[in-house]
Amino acid sequence: MLCIRFLTILVITTGGNMAKCAICGKRMLVGANVSHAHNVTKKYQKPNLRKVKVTIDGEPQKIWVCAKCRKAGKVDGINRK
Ligand SMILES: [Zn+2]
Repeated sequence: MLCIRFLTILVITTGGNMAKCAICGKRMLVGANVSHAHNVTKKYQKPNLRKVKVTIDGEPQKIWVCAKCRKAGKVDGINRK
């Protein structure tokens, strides 16, 4: 007898009102964890969002940016102490 246990993750939709990255638009992923017995539970995958202080049109503002965009230097005018 061959018994194969497997885990399936289905990406159903993206998150609703959660903050998203202002640069790339990355937001929370919602999927399903499906067990061998086919018990379906929700599974969430959140991006590493950080609130950064930037200067837009001469005014200091706070925007949500993912850590990947921040590290890649895609955000101009980050106010550092
Ligand atoms: Zn991003």
